Amino acid sequence: MKLILEPTITDAQQTAISASLATDGCIINRITDADRQVIGITATRVKRNVEDYADLDGVETAVPISSAYKLVSREFKTQDTLVKAKEITVGGDRIAIIAGPCSVESLDQAMTIAKKVKKYGAILFQGGAYKPRSSPYSFQGLEKEGLKILAQVREETGLGVVTEMTSTTQAELMEKYVDVVQIGARNMQNFELLKCAGKMSKPVLLKRGLAATIQEWLMSAEYIAAGGNTNIILCERGIRTFEPYTRNTLDLSAIPILKKLTHLPIVIDPSHATGIREKVAPMARAAVAAGADALMIEVHNNPDNGLSDGAESLSPEQFGNLTRDIYVIAPVVGKQLDFDYLKKKELIPAAHTQNAAACAITGEPGTYSHKACLSYFGNDVAPVAMMSFKEVFTAVKNNTASYGIVPVENSLSGSVHENYDLLQTHNLKIIGEITIRIKHALITHPKTDVSSIKTILAPAHAIAQCQNYLVQMTTTEILPVRTGVSAVNQAKELDPSVAAIGPALAAEIFDMTVAHESIEDNPMNYTRFAVIAREFTGHKKADKTFIIFSTGNRPGALLEVMQVFSDHHINLVKLESRPVAGKPWEYLFYAELEADLDDRGSNPVMDALAKRVETLKVLGRY
Ligand code: PEP
Ligand code: MN
Repeated sequence: MKLILEPTITDAQQTAISASLATDGCIINRITDADRQVIGITATRVKRNVEDYADLDGVETAVPISSAYKLVSREFKTQDTLVKAKEITVGGDRIAIIAGPCSVESLDQAMTIAKKVKKYGAILFQGGAYKPRSSPYSFQGLEKEGLKILAQVREETGLGVVTEMTSTTQAELMEKYVDVVQIGARNMQNFELLKCAGKMSKPVLLKRGLAATIQEWLMSAEYIAAGGNTNIILCERGIRTFEPYTRNTLDLSAIPILKKLTHLPIVIDPSHATGIREKVAPMARAAVAAGADALMIEVHNNPDNGLSDGAESLSPEQFGNLTRDIYVIAPVVGKQLDFDYLKKKELIPAAHTQNAAACAITGEPGTYSHKACLSYFGNDVAPVAMMSFKEVFTAVKNNTASYGIVPVENSLSGSVHENYDLLQTHNLKIIGEITIRIKHALITHPKTDVSSIKTILAPAHAIAQCQNYLVQMTTTEILPVRTGVSAVNQAKELDPSVAAIGPALAAEIFDMTVAHESIEDNPMNYTRFAVIAREFTGHKKADKTFIIFSTGNRPGALLEVMQVFSDHHINLVKLESRPVAGKPWEYLFYAELEADLDDRGSNPVMDALAKRVETLKVLGRY
């Protein structure tokens, strides 16, 4: 049963509810879901009717939960759970990569691998210290010594560490040395171990049993949640089938099934699933395409001589190639692999400090600007909605927001010139960029025939990106609005002849219907967002530099500038000219280069450029 509390509930009512529930001998779990306070009630001794709970003062509704698992079910909590381990989040828009050897073999081995996997995008390091091996004669792990090595890895690299707990007697050591406690496939139904994990303060990575159904797996997760620990990550690692070509059979269909049944994040372990090195990368790529929140990959610096599971371990270089692929695949399904994940922590003051960072965006929850903010910073930076791009720049300039995120370019409709101009006039810096795939949907009132639509509300950029679709709607009036989400919100308030173009998520938010999905002219529709700040503080090496310059009005002036890039083997990614406001027929050039050009010290490229241009400014390093 879950009780959704009234938004105006008083402390006295809260206390009275707790007291009343205590008389039934039930276990109470309090959560916030979709901005509502919710109480979950499990294991009650006294059974009451739903109406009796709904009648409690301060309770808005009481909802029975039909599945056997309660706290881990989507029925109980509709929003995805983001599991925090150290300063890392598993779940949400950023794919978490967990990598490392099957077993910690020595400090040198663990540290060597950890540094490599970190370089290639891992944010959590895995290494077994207590190994559940099929043969008593196989390497059993370094035990406590292994945990100490993991703690050293964590200290030196900043990676979070994950290791398996095989007995309740190890719980205290786990609390001391690691960030995530793994319960292995063989122990998925070791109920004493699950109860013990339920009492721990660390997140738990629960692997699926060798022959466990999804229902059994979720019931095991429920044991942990019922003990009070709801920081659970589910790990699919292959199940036993009749197929001998792989060690196990990776059940990728578990991903969409679990996404419906539970709010917990899902990690895929293609290493134990396949047992064969060459099969790991294809399955990892497929897992991300299928919606996995995280990957768990065995990596060894000397895979053929690993003390356990060498045959399925990737070399660090193979792992690096895989993460490059994941980097490309993830945005297609609305996620990101962030190679700067750990570095970004420097940009984000701890959430509990007074001046927790805010990021100004245009658009409410559900817009792509909002998504860009979550994808870039994770959930530690609060997005603050502004009414216009100009307001975003002003907020950053005036220090009311630490950062801002604005679209600068779309792969179908081109540059967002307004934002390049605002960047220049506000003298702010681009400190990062993020690319998001944009999908537009035609969203109508429920049960409305598209042929009866007379008006479509849509933001200007969506109109530009859906031209082929819109030209056939000859009798429909198209009205521009600010964002796709506000288009849906406004359409909802109007009569059913009004539809909207917006992200499918907005249909969910406002109980509207997606009539046509993906109506953009081309599915390769990506928008690049720039992350802006006042200064480059906390910023180290950059991959790209964005400069703005003007040249004299003489033949070959631009060619001379290009020559500097050519001489220094610098790839020019983008070059655009923009008129200078108030000075007809005078232009500034905006250039994006694949190089790190810092104008704060002396730099041969900048020195050479300075001799050939009239004005020059570095506006972005990212
Ligand atoms: C492991 O992580 O090395 C391991 C033993 O995994 P599983 O429990 O999935 O077999
Ligand atoms: Mn292993």
